[in-house]
Amino acid sequence: MNLFSLENKKILITGSARGIGFLTAQGLAEYGAEIIINDITQERAEIAALKLRDMGFNAHAAAFDVTDAQAVESAVEHIERDIGAIDVLFNNAGIQRRHPFTEFPLKDWNDIIAVNQTAVFLVSQSVSRRMVQRRAGKIVNICSMQSELGRDTITPYAAAKGAVKMLTRGMCVELARYNIQVNGIAPGYFKTEMTQALVQDPVFTEWLCKRTPAARWGDPRELIGAAVFLSSAASDFVNGHLLFVDGGMLVAV
Ligand code: NDP
Repeated sequence: MNLFSLENKKILITGSARGIGFLTAQGLAEYGAEIIINDITQERAEIAALKLRDMGFNAHAAAFDVTDAQAVESAVEHIERDIGAIDVLFNNAGIQRRHPFTEFPLKDWNDIIAVNQTAVFLVSQSVSRRMVQRRAGKIVNICSMQSELGRDTITPYAAAKGAVKMLTRGMCVELARYNIQVNGIAPGYFKTEMTQALVQDPVFTEWLCKRTPAARWGDPRELIGAAVFLSSAASDFVNGHLLFVDGGMLVAV
């Protein structure tokens, strides 16, 4: 048996029409998974699912806003009825806004907490209730190295990711008895739309290369190994942990 095979696994990935979510979806599909792409808009979810199908993979679209409790419950019900049981959930949807702490608008704080933190609670709760019935499942939360660091202008984002770290641990403890594993991936800096402004700033890139032992940005495809591991039987006794994929940045002084 191939420990890393994802054949016959249905995997729902929130916020996966682009960025880390889409490339993770593609990577998991390469290991045999059937993918359910989520985005707020039907059109973007459909386009991304079609892209995967054009590559020869099995993929579906499920549009819903991860911050809307009713929309989440109804979407999960539809997915399980029309596509089948969700074996693995990736909580990947995320947003980031940057302002100095003293100027941070309350609306931006509320939006950041809703997408990065409350949505993890909502989608995990809806999906895990069904996993509990089946006594099987895996949940992977896309956290961030920022949960461990204090850094200018992203304090609410870091706070939300810190909360997701603790959701990961608490859910692990509550769900392990039902044969459900809950782990997190904590990326360092990866080139996506979220980090576009930083990528275009040579001063930031120079700082990043000095600060990171690997001395470079991460490529989102470098998150696939962690995603496959935490979705597969290879991680059946790994529970409640964050896997840092950061080129060594967290441990460097
Ligand atoms: P992107 O901005 O490229 O993608 C974020 C995705 O989340 C988009 O597809 C977006 O959809 C979706 N999304 C946002 N709000 C919602 C919502 N309410 N409902 C459903 N989907 C939503 O970001 P990344 O790919 O870089 O980030 C993916 C995850 O990785 C995030 O959780 C982020 O915090 C985390 N991360 C990223 C790092 C990096 O360096 N890039 C580092 C550490 C963590 P839409 O296209 O409709 O806006």
